[in-house]
Amino acid sequence: MNTLEKRITQLRISDQPRTSPLVWATPLVGIILFILAMGAFFYTLHSEDQSQAKLRTIRDVELARQTIRTRLLGSQERLIQIARSIEQQGFEEDSFRRQANGILSDTPEVSSILYINQEREATLVVLPRGRSTEVVHDPGVIIEDAESYWAFATAKEGGLPVFARPFLSISGAVYTEIHVPVIVDSKFKGVVAATLPISAILNDAVPTSFTQLYLVSVVDSGGNMIASNSSRSIDNAKLSHEVQLDPPGHGLKLRAVLYRTTTELFQDMLTWAVLGLSAVIVWSFILLYRHSKMRNQAERKLLAETKFRRAMENSVITGMRAFDMQGRITYVNPAFCKMTGYKESELVGMTPPFPYWPENSYQEQEEALRLILSGRAPRQGLEVNIRRREGSIFAARMYVSPLVDSEGSQSGWMTSITDITEPRRVREELAAAHRRFVRILEELDAAVVVEDPQSDSPEPIFTNRLHKDWFSKASPPGLDKTLNDRSAMESIEWLNPVTQRWYEVRRRPISWVDGRTVLMQVATDISSRKETEKVNRQQQEKLQFTSRLITLGELASSLAHELNQPLTAIANYTMGGVARLKAGTVKSEDLLPVMEKVSVQAQRAGDVIRRIREFVKQQEPNRSLCLLDKIIQDAIGFSRLEARNQGTRIVVNNPEANLQVVADAILIEQVLMNLIKNGIEAMGHLNVIDRVIEIHVNRVNSTMAMVRVRDYGSGVPEEIRERLFESFFTTKSNGMGMGLNICRTIIEYHQGQLWVDPAPNGGSEFKFTLPTSESITNKPTATNDTASKDSRNTANASK
Ligand code: ADP
Repeated sequence: MNTLEKRITQLRISDQPRTSPLVWATPLVGIILFILAMGAFFYTLHSEDQSQAKLRTIRDVELARQTIRTRLLGSQERLIQIARSIEQQGFEEDSFRRQANGILSDTPEVSSILYINQEREATLVVLPRGRSTEVVHDPGVIIEDAESYWAFATAKEGGLPVFARPFLSISGAVYTEIHVPVIVDSKFKGVVAATLPISAILNDAVPTSFTQLYLVSVVDSGGNMIASNSSRSIDNAKLSHEVQLDPPGHGLKLRAVLYRTTTELFQDMLTWAVLGLSAVIVWSFILLYRHSKMRNQAERKLLAETKFRRAMENSVITGMRAFDMQGRITYVNPAFCKMTGYKESELVGMTPPFPYWPENSYQEQEEALRLILSGRAPRQGLEVNIRRREGSIFAARMYVSPLVDSEGSQSGWMTSITDITEPRRVREELAAAHRRFVRILEELDAAVVVEDPQSDSPEPIFTNRLHKDWFSKASPPGLDKTLNDRSAMESIEWLNPVTQRWYEVRRRPISWVDGRTVLMQVATDISSRKETEKVNRQQQEKLQFTSRLITLGELASSLAHELNQPLTAIANYTMGGVARLKAGTVKSEDLLPVMEKVSVQAQRAGDVIRRIREFVKQQEPNRSLCLLDKIIQDAIGFSRLEARNQGTRIVVNNPEANLQVVADAILIEQVLMNLIKNGIEAMGHLNVIDRVIEIHVNRVNSTMAMVRVRDYGSGVPEEIRERLFESFFTTKSNGMGMGLNICRTIIEYHQGQLWVDPAPNGGSEFKFTLPTSESITNKPTATNDTASKDSRNTANASK
């Protein structure tokens, strides 16, 4: 559609053509009025003409009757004259003949004149000369026929001329007769008669001017035509007239029917012509109306189609542009104008270079146009840059197709253009994201593989570099491929038999980008962790051994004190007993309690020694369920001596007397003894009354218990708080600096934690956590860390 066509369409759309009913009513009314007027005109003309003709007919008929009457009466008069001459001179044949011939030659309507005597014999019959006539009565014959007889008799009776009733002759012609009586001396002598064929009366008595205009006939009283001036019969009742014809009378009538005149014919023709023309007008009007209706329908259809196409064109978001074969723009759609910012009027008719070509890519654009015009544009489209009017540039994809009209000839090329800035940006971002993702996965120090368990292909969906490096020769055993619960996860530790490295392999189902459930396996190299664990274990064992040796030394001195006490008591009891035995004053019942006390003291000394021996002998820590309260009491028992020496009280606050922990009781006693010893030493400068060590027990949660050992000593400056736990860190001249280090190792071995916090009113509070018996049932590994941290947090919060 070119611009002009579009304008026309726009006009039509805006004009909304509606055929007003008046458009058709006016000519229709005009035509009807015209036809009516013509009808009225012709009707009036016709009726006027008819009445005129009628009047003329009446007048003419009257005139004809008069003429006939005059002629007949004239003939009768001449017959009377013959009769008179016979009456006066007697019958003379010559005279009769002469007179008769005179009549016959003057009046052609008389066919014969005869003399009939009183015996009814036609004595003389005179026929006209020079014209042949029928001989109705032969001479010398008695007149017998009824009509002639009646006329004869009536003339004889009345003595007056009589016209006979019409009768048929032998030849079939209709005749009338005039009988004029001849009376001599009142005696009837005969009649002078004349025969008159009625047709001759019509032909000869009526003027030609009349017979030319009318069909003249004589009818009898029964309405039967007995003579006519023409063999034709016409039916024109309106323009006919009848009058009584008297003479001859007897009910005979003269009838005249007007022939159609040329004026009438002309008028008829005119009427028909007008009628025909009116019919043609009406028919043309109908044709025009039909045509217009069809045209209206076609226009409405076209309008709807145009509206639809226009709406479609406006709603399309793809830019459309058409070139002619020379590369001139012949059409752009609104979307293209919106894209580029140029108006349709600016672009249509333009030749390259186009204003929407970016300045730096003229060559590229020209090449693209060349491709389009030569029909070599790729089917998958071209990517071009387009400059908007305000200068910004956007990327577009352009598809080209030939513009072929309905006749099949190509008039140019149609290009469709889509702005691909956003898709391209998204694509690039996606690609970048994918690169980043792959890069991260590649750089990850874990081997990642994604497999579809449903797929028949042995190739995984994704593998990263490490996976290939680590598992090309040997791969971890297939985990459960039927894993389909998204939250489920499998984890194994696996030793690669080829590389002898340890891996932690975890596997879980994940939802893949296309929606299917696939398995992701992440393997991390845990060889170093395994190595560290091994070293740690060995170190721990070594440390424990060292610790025991160190503690042994320390214990040796306390053992001396410890053993000294029961041994001194034993010595004192036994010496007292010996002295009393020597004096002989002793009774056996006095000696018994002394012996029992000796036995208890000996027992205790034995216990101390056994414990020491057990401790030294033990190689592996032996964790088992033990009562925490008993461990604390035993530790206090061991430390009592030193506490007593230093005048320090040890107070225990344990609301959880039945709390069981998973621990090596000897080692934990050792930790407690160490903490108590440090506390005692830290309070050396205080008054004896203030030297108190408080031991508190509480639960951190169901799986962890916490023991706090609080003193009122000098406390620990913050800067060295963490260093206390380092090996060989000591502030004491005779200290080894190993005690706290060993204690932390022991507690951490128990999956607990040991730390120190400043106590609220001076002094320090050493705290450690231990797993409770519930931890065995409630996943000790998972909760330990959290529990310890929680406990630390609680402790910090309470500061
Ligand atoms: P040693 O007791 O042989 O010095 P430890 O490892 O037991 O070794 O202690 C390290 C250091 O921690 C001690 O020298 C001391 O300075 C400090 N210390 C330990 N316990 C306390 C305490 N309760 N109050 C103040 N300082 C302490």
